[in-house]
This record gives sequence, C-alpha cells and structure tokens, in this order.
Amino acid sequence: MLPTPGMGHLIPLVEFAKQLILQHDSSITIILPTDGPISKSQNTFLSSLPSGLNYRLLPPVNFDDLSDDVLIETRISLTITRSLSSLREVFESLVKSHRVVAFVVDLFGTDAFDLAKEFNVSPYMFYTTTAKMLSLDLYFPVLNQTVSCEYKDLQEPDLPDPLHDRKDDAYKWALHHTKRFKMAHGIILNSFIDLEPQTIKYLQEAYNNRPKIYSIGPLVLMDKKFDDDVSQCLTWLDKQPRGSVVYISFGSGGTLSHEQIIELAIGLEMSGQRFLLVVRCPNDRIPNGTYFNNQNSTNPLDFLPNGFLERTKGLGLVLANWAPQVQILSHVSVGGFLTHCGWNSILESVICGVPLIAWPLFADQRTNAVMLIEDLKVALRPKIRDNGIVGRSEISEVVKELMEGEEGKEVCIKMKELKDAAKKVLSEDGSSTKALDELAFELKKCVT
Ligand code: UDP
Repeated sequence: MLPTPGMGHLIPLVEFAKQLILQHDSSITIILPTDGPISKSQNTFLSSLPSGLNYRLLPPVNFDDLSDDVLIETRISLTITRSLSSLREVFESLVKSHRVVAFVVDLFGTDAFDLAKEFNVSPYMFYTTTAKMLSLDLYFPVLNQTVSCEYKDLQEPDLPDPLHDRKDDAYKWALHHTKRFKMAHGIILNSFIDLEPQTIKYLQEAYNNRPKIYSIGPLVLMDKKFDDDVSQCLTWLDKQPRGSVVYISFGSGGTLSHEQIIELAIGLEMSGQRFLLVVRCPNDRIPNGTYFNNQNSTNPLDFLPNGFLERTKGLGLVLANWAPQVQILSHVSVGGFLTHCGWNSILESVICGVPLIAWPLFADQRTNAVMLIEDLKVALRPKIRDNGIVGRSEISEVVKELMEGEEGKEVCIKMKELKDAAKKVLSEDGSSTKALDELAFELKKCVT
C-alpha cells in the first residue's frame, strides 16, 4: 500500500490494512514516500504497527525548486512522481520475494498504477474522502471538457480549491489523476450508506463495476497505543462533567492566522464552556501550514492572548500541536467538536456520536461542511466576516448554542442516530463488513 503524505491518508490506510490482516489473514507492506525526516506523530504511529504490517520509508524527495505558494495537491502529487524510481526498486524486491496480489494507492498516487501494471499486480485505490467527492472526481474529466469557464465563476457547486483555477498545476494534477482512476480494479471508499445514501447508490450503479466501489467505512483508528501525551489530557477529561467539554482541532495540517487564534481563544473564554484546544503556531498565509510537517521549535502557546491560560485555568486545557483525538472524542466528558471538517475527523465524531461545529479550511473541507450542515444536520456553522475572520462573539455564541442551545440538542440527536447507523454497518452482517469480505474474496482470487 502506498499512502501519499499527510496523516489523514496514512491513518485510514493503515486501519484498512489492519482490518485485512485481522479478518482475512493478509500480510501488508506500507511504502511511505517522504520529503524529509518523518514527524514525531508519524514516528509514534509507525512504531506501533501490529505484526503482519510492515513499512518501508522511501528516500526523501527534494522540493527546493518549488515556490512557497505551490498548492498542497501539487506538492503531494510531486512527492509520488519524484519517488517513482525508489518506489520501483522496493516494489520489485517485494514482487520477487512475495506473492504480491494487490497494490493499493490513494487518490494522489495514480502514477504508481503503472508499476502495478508492469509487474502484473492488481491496482486498487483507497479513496480517503467522501462518496460525493469520488463522484465528482470520476466525472471530472467530462466536466473539464464540457464547462469552458472557471468553476469559481459558477454559482454552484462550491468545488474544492485545486479545481478553481484551470491554469494552476493543482488543476492539471487533478485532471491527470482523475483520468487514471478507472485503471483501478476497485475503489475502496471510507464511507457508508447512511452517510451518503444517494451518492453511494449512484456510484455503485453508474459505472457498471468499472471500477467496482467497496464502501467499507467508517474506518477509524481506535488504537490506544498511538499517542504518548494521552494520559495528561485524559486525566483532565476524567475530572470534567459528562458531555461538558468542547474539543477544538483543525486536523493534522490546519493552521490559523494569529488574529484568528486570538479571536478563537477569547471567544472560547467568553462562552464560559469547558474546552480542550489544540493550538499550532499561526500561519498568516496558508490554512494548511502543518500538512507536510507539524514539527516546529516555537511554542504555539506563546501566540495565545495575554493572560489567557491563567484566566481559563480549570475551565480549559490547551495542547500544543497534536492531541490524542480518538481517545478525546470517545471520552464521556466530550460533548462537542469544533472541526476543520477533515473526513477522518468527521468519521471519528460519527463513531463517537459527538455533534460538530463546522469550520472548514481547505481541500474538500468546504464540501464536507455543506454535507454536515445541510444533508446530515449534525453540525452548526459560525458566520465568517468579509475579512475571512470568525469573530470572538460569533465563536462564543456558536459554542454556547452547540453545548446548551436548542439547535445543539437537535444536531446531537441526529449525530447519535448516525452513531447507531455506523455501528450497524460495521456489525457482522453490516454492509461495510460485507463489502470488506467481498473485497478480500476478490483479492484472494488474484493469488494464482
Ligand atoms: N489527528 C490526531 N491528533 C491531532 C490532529 C489530527 O490524532 O492533533 C488525527 C485525527 O484523529 C485524524 C487525522 O489525524 O485521524 C486527521 O485527518 P483528517 O482527515 O481529519 O484531516 P487532515 O489532517 O487530513 O486535514
């Protein structure tokens, strides 16, 4: 399996690998491309992989020629193309020493399909976001030919950033990858029918099983060993009343401007609600400043408002850079989650039944937020000012509404319904379990 950079790709792919090993007696090697030393969180994560699941790090690629404003999707795609020769070496050695039956890449790794073809191994894709995005991606080559203006000039729909500017390299990469999606023998989708009923049904019927879509979600990493800072924060949560804490995190890559960090902190303080806040050093230029690496020698807590930590002592806990998210969301004291709407974060909230405040930053997150608010009705959304900032009063109001208001109660009920639905699809006879069985059966057929 080849995940492209970002914890949001690595975590679900590893969880998928674990399920195949546990339930279907497979042996899996994760091949990880890099652009430098791996981060602390990646290191902790990789060192706790179970037996049967190995990993190999590829030598770092060089990005010195890229300007700072290159979009993240371009950078991710280049990580793969610049790793192809080292990937080929590792892949060839695996094929020579093992009976390799399948090669699974994620949505930015389609260039590696050629290797699978060369060595006569079945290519599969693990799709790390929604069925809605998959439907858009599969149709994108057609859309590219039939629409001549820029999508950002259209009223609807609100398409993800890389599709906004046809001249940008990220657009060209999106087109390149999506044209190759159909090379996959199957697409493994981390979603489930109750989340996106119409789209999943459509996808299963529209393409005549070419490629076949396996909806096996929600795949969520429930591994307790993953984080080392777990105990401090869980001990604090143990002391808080049931359902009283709002957790705030912008995923593995999300960053806010300094002005926005100040507004967020003061807004939380004004709300009077208990909170668990993950802070990163500000980035005034891009919203995904820690996507490739969350290591920074500067202390992010230095960017909080003066006296904030003292004033909120007892009411809130602030963690720097990284938190044991799944353990937090599954703690009984947590009653709400202000999220950047990354797909894994959403699935983790669904599994734990925690209602949301949607604060999308980049990539597919705006589209995900619309789904959470309008289709599923499991999230509230703060208003953004014209200058792009969410003000302190707005933050205070939306947090209070989620934790104590009527709208908060409604989204909470809806989220509990989704939690039950998730449990059902993952049960022995559930649709996701069956889809995984079916996939494992197909893979076994590849063993000649
Ligand atoms: N995550 C975590 N602690 C953090 C930030 C993120 O454990 O402080 C995990 C989170 O639980 C999720 C993944 O990293 O599994 C982030 O994926 P998501 O799709 O939500 O967002 P991305 O990071 O890709 O933007």
